[in-house]
Formats: sequence, C-alpha cells, structure tokens
Amino acid sequence: EPTDIAAMLEEVADRFSFQLQQRRISIQVYAPKPLPPVPLDPDQIDQVLDNLVSNAIKYTPEDGTITLEATQVEGGQVEVAVQDTGVGIPKKDLQHIFERFYRVDKARSRNMGGTGLGLSIAREIVKAHNGFIYIESEVNKGTRVSFTLPLEVEGE
Ligand code: ATP
Ligand code: MG
Repeated sequence: EPTDIAAMLEEVADRFSFQLQQRRISIQVYAPKPLPPVPLDPDQIDQVLDNLVSNAIKYTPEDGTITLEATQVEGGQVEVAVQDTGVGIPKKDLQHIFERFYRVDKARSRNMGGTGLGLSIAREIVKAHNGFIYIESEVNKGTRVSFTLPLEVEGE
C-alpha cells in the first residue's frame, strides 16, 4: 500500500526519543515536502528503520547526531538514509556487514548485545521490495546506511 515515508521517519524518531535522550543523541528528520507515496509494507519497512536506528544509537557516543532522510532519486525511486556520527566500521568489515551473524570486533559488539541479524534482515526486506541497500562508513566519523524503494510496483 502507498505510504507516506516522511511520516514513517518522524514516527521512528518518536519511538526512539526516550533512548536518544538518555544517550544525549540528537535526531534530525529531513524530507522535502512533495514526496510521492511509496508502495511498501509498513510493518516490514518499520522493522528496517528500527534495525538501522537502533544500530545508529548503539554505535554512536554521547552528544552525537543521527539523521534520517528521505529523497526522491533518479529512476522513480525513493532513497531513505540513516546517518550517524558514531564509531564507524573498518573497511575490511564493510563487505561482510550484511551477512547473517556478522559483527565487527566481537569484543566491541559483545557488551552491546544483539545477534548480528539486524542488517541481514534489513537487506532481505529491502530486496523483497525490489530495492537496494548500501553502507558507507568511516572509522571514528560515522556510518550511513541507505536503501532505495521503487515508486512503481512491478506488474501494476
Ligand atoms: P542485532 O541487530 O541482531 O541486534 P547487531 O546490531 O550486532 O545485532 P547488525 O545490525 O546486523 O547486528 O549489525 C552487524 C554489525 O555491524 C554490528 O555488530 C556492528 O559491529 C556493525 N554496525 C552496524 N551498524 C553500525 C553503525 N551504525 N555503526 C557502527 N557499526 C555498525
Ligand atoms: Mg542491529
């Protein structure tokens, strides 16, 4: 069903507002106003957003910033991005990061909790929507995970 993706980003920011406050992390939502409705499964895309935002919170130190952004890009797609100013991911780990159970630096990850499934689930859901998911990261600078969703559903 067609959904207002900007409203979904506002809602995810609200869902995490207590946790964000506790960690002294600020969140910003950017979405240019006239964004077309996006055909998507709201529960599934909420799960993707929850996974990405919870990662961003886990791996961003106090006083950091998380930015959620939705923009229309070329080729009839909407791009959604979750960007943080956190610890980042080393280059050698980036290519594996969507694999099930893959976690960077067991020691660093262990005391954070989690199983290493969030990103692989996110990728599966985005794939099922005929979209793509990307990650860019720089150690000690931050991480940006973005995914695309086509505006036209195949066969409609
Ligand atoms: P789960 O999501 O199952 O609770 P997890 O968060 O460890 O566990 P993923 O979400 O799949 O698993 O992420 C895999 C690994 O990628 C994480 O363990 C972490 O090392 C790294 N990672 C993911 N997102 C970020 C981020 N925003 N900043 C830094 N590292 C990240
Ligand atoms: Mg996770």
